[in-house]
Amino acid sequence: MTSIKIKPWIIDLPEYIPGRTIEEIKKKYKLDTVYKLASNENIFGPSPRVAEALNNALSEINYYPDSYNRDLREKLEEKTGLRKEQFLFGNGTDQIIEMVCDAILDKGKNIVIPDPTFLTYERSALKNNAGIIKIPLNDFRQDYRSITSAADRDTGIIFLTSPHNPTGTIISEEELKFILDNISPEVLVVLDEAYTEFVRKEDKFNACKMIDYYKNLMVMRTFSKIYGLAGLRIGYAVADEIIIKSVEKLVQPFVVNLLAQKAAIASLEDDEYINKNIDIIINEREKIFNFLNNNNIEYVKSYANFILIKTGKHTEAITEDLLRKGFIVRGGSFLGFPEYIRVTISIPEINEKFINTFSGIYKKYMGKT
Ligand SMILES: *Cc1c(COP(=O)(O)O)cnc(C)c1O
Repeated sequence: MTSIKIKPWIIDLPEYIPGRTIEEIKKKYKLDTVYKLASNENIFGPSPRVAEALNNALSEINYYPDSYNRDLREKLEEKTGLRKEQFLFGNGTDQIIEMVCDAILDKGKNIVIPDPTFLTYERSALKNNAGIIKIPLNDFRQDYRSITSAADRDTGIIFLTSPHNPTGTIISEEELKFILDNISPEVLVVLDEAYTEFVRKEDKFNACKMIDYYKNLMVMRTFSKIYGLAGLRIGYAVADEIIIKSVEKLVQPFVVNLLAQKAAIASLEDDEYINKNIDIIINEREKIFNFLNNNNIEYVKSYANFILIKTGKHTEAITEDLLRKGFIVRGGSFLGFPEYIRVTISIPEINEKFINTFSGIYKKYMGKT
């Protein structure tokens, strides 16, 4: 017991359940090798240039980092053709989501989100006493029409994710435009593109190019997925510079550390490495789709580096069996899909091991009632 008065909304929040770590599972099941396919991380790791940049930066870590991220800003300006004032940086995209909610939401305001979706949107809105309007997915896709009509005069932000987590489905340019054209310009539409690099060129459009026309659109990107820097924590958002300027006033000065800034720049300088890994992941995704098709296993056609696979009523047991064999996946109710597991696409040899193991476990349960 404590006499400290914690704010009631915090007491009411569900406890955060951290994902399992490789070390924990190795110990528990006495395994030598454990594969973490649970958090959509990049198993290739960052470009080799990152290690070099980090080594060089070690002699500078007694200095505070550049709070304006100038070098990274300029690199992104050069790469994207956007203006450097249109970028906002954070200690992971997670933090940017929180900053944007802090800047816009309040008691009486609300956010509109698909259900299920990435948990940070809801948590960051609750922190600001805002209401949450949840719109169920429609056939695993974000229901852009219902989302549009759910936005009311109190809506501060609509959060969209493309590719969506945990389904991997995308929003088309027409759907995004439909939303933007049919809501009040006072509602900020956030398009979280954490996995956009895994979408084939023919399936995607450049949402960042739309921010000059739609002043209420914000696009978010991260270095945690294809760039392989999840452990360093850095992400960014792109929007009209007036919005960016206001949100920046809220940010603590040094949220993006010096090593993260250097690593992000180095990884943006190695397109060859990044593109090669994208090709491998896309190719592996097709291979896993083929395996699932050939075995009549239901799944959602993903555009990201993970796949939601239907495991039915034995999902918990299947997840547990996978753990025993050294595969950590995210399963079931945690994702809002009690009968599915979400599996991160890894490098070819690990995917092959996963397929073999999963296939055996799946067959064992499918006959059961
Ligand atoms: C992984 C992920 C992010 C990235 O978060 P970081 O804080 O940048 O690591 C953002 N949005 C979604 C939907 C994600 O799955």
